[in-house]
Amino acid sequence: MNLNSGYPFWLIKDGLPYTFPKLDCNKTVDVAIIGAGISGALVRYFLLKAGVSCVTLDARTIGLGSTSGSTSLLQYEIDTPLHRLIPKVGKQQAERAYHLCNDAILTLEHIAAALDFTEFESRSSLYFAAYKKDRSFLQQEFEARKAAGFDVSLLEEAQVRQQYGFEAPSAILSRHGAQTNAYAFTHRLLQYKKGKSLDVYDRTAVVKTEQQRNGVVLHTEQGFRVKAKRVVYATGYEVVELIDKKIVDLQSTYAVVSEQYPDRAAFWKDEVLLWNTADPYLYLRTTPDGRIIAGGRDERFHQHTKRDRLIPQKAKQLAADVQKLFPDLHFKTEFTWTGTFGATKDGLPYIGVYDKVPNSYFALGFGGNGITFSVVAAQIITELVQGKKNEDAPIFAFDR
Ligand SMILES: Cc1cc2nc3c(=O)[nH]c(=O)nc-3n(C[C@H](O)[C@H](O)[C@H](O)COP(=O)(O)OP(=O)(O)OC[C@H]3O[C@@H](n4cnc5c(N)ncnc54)[C@H](O)[C@@H]3O)c2cc1C
Repeated sequence: MNLNSGYPFWLIKDGLPYTFPKLDCNKTVDVAIIGAGISGALVRYFLLKAGVSCVTLDARTIGLGSTSGSTSLLQYEIDTPLHRLIPKVGKQQAERAYHLCNDAILTLEHIAAALDFTEFESRSSLYFAAYKKDRSFLQQEFEARKAAGFDVSLLEEAQVRQQYGFEAPSAILSRHGAQTNAYAFTHRLLQYKKGKSLDVYDRTAVVKTEQQRNGVVLHTEQGFRVKAKRVVYATGYEVVELIDKKIVDLQSTYAVVSEQYPDRAAFWKDEVLLWNTADPYLYLRTTPDGRIIAGGRDERFHQHTKRDRLIPQKAKQLAADVQKLFPDLHFKTEFTWTGTFGATKDGLPYIGVYDKVPNSYFALGFGGNGITFSVVAAQIITELVQGKKNEDAPIFAFDR
């Protein structure tokens, strides 16, 4: 599957921070992880922390799946607003899903600190009404989040204008969010225990799996075998080729990054993460080197030729969206890209066992907030691999 096209900013900024070998021998391990994007890298980190030996295989060069295309906003607010998730999955599970994503941001902050990874910045998040009619929707969402114990405030039109310098009928300010660089973070995670247990191989596609009584044998494109007691599929959107029920709608999304601004005083207050209630929604963040990233303008198809043809038009539209919000910013686009992303029926990811693929776990953080889901997946799967029960697993189960 063609996951990204154009010039994802992080790839240009960071290039190839580390290189990895191809697998060139047979291996026997406790756990084999297929996929070394942010999900696979986090699963590996948690497994190694728990003392489980594992090997990681990726068909691409490390990070070149969806992870390099990610704009890397970290929000506990998932694609389905809390007050709409409650009727779908029940109050307890909906609130728990939101809290798990909230905790995931803190977890990522701790991991970043432990690995000396500095591209992690805490940010509040401002969810603003795109239209006057969305005021009551935001009011309901505010009440649901407040009732669930989140630190949120509801801002009126004049407050948004005075404090953040743009026009919006109302907004929810959430005091817990962050921004990062998922591509560089993935590379840093994969250096964990390097030497003792690097065991990360790229350009090594798994082309066949063979179920055995006590595990699985993975066959690589180059003709080697990895025998594992358990397999974790952290294969991102390409997993649709493996699962025979429709769990995700694949779509296309677009992003632009501006030239650097000489003075960050030009930016909005606190450089909060901004996103709105439009469908598809517009979102904005800043970068440590003084740029603005804007994303959105999604399309409900994922055929890459059709998707890629729209890059120039979508880039223009996104730049105009920013310009409309902040006319004084004079947004000048420097890089643009597009990528596949997926939406599930309830906005929640699919994590854990899938009964048609034995001895295996799935870490599928679909959605606009895939990175926080990757953390949740890594935590749940690590417990399941160790034979422990995880109370949260049913929220994200395939048969929910
Ligand atoms: C433009 C864009 C913006 C986004 N913005 C955000 C955001 O702001 N915040 C957020 O949280 N999320 C965001 N996302 C989503 C986020 O990027 C993804 O959820 C996340 O990167 C998925 O990571 P992953 O490791 O699961 O998948 P991937 O990064 O795609 O990694 C999966 C890996 O599995 C490998 N693989 C697949 N099949 C095989 C096989 N058979 N053998 C070996 N290897 C295999 C692939 O090569 C790939 O490298 C965005 C996505 C896009 C496209």
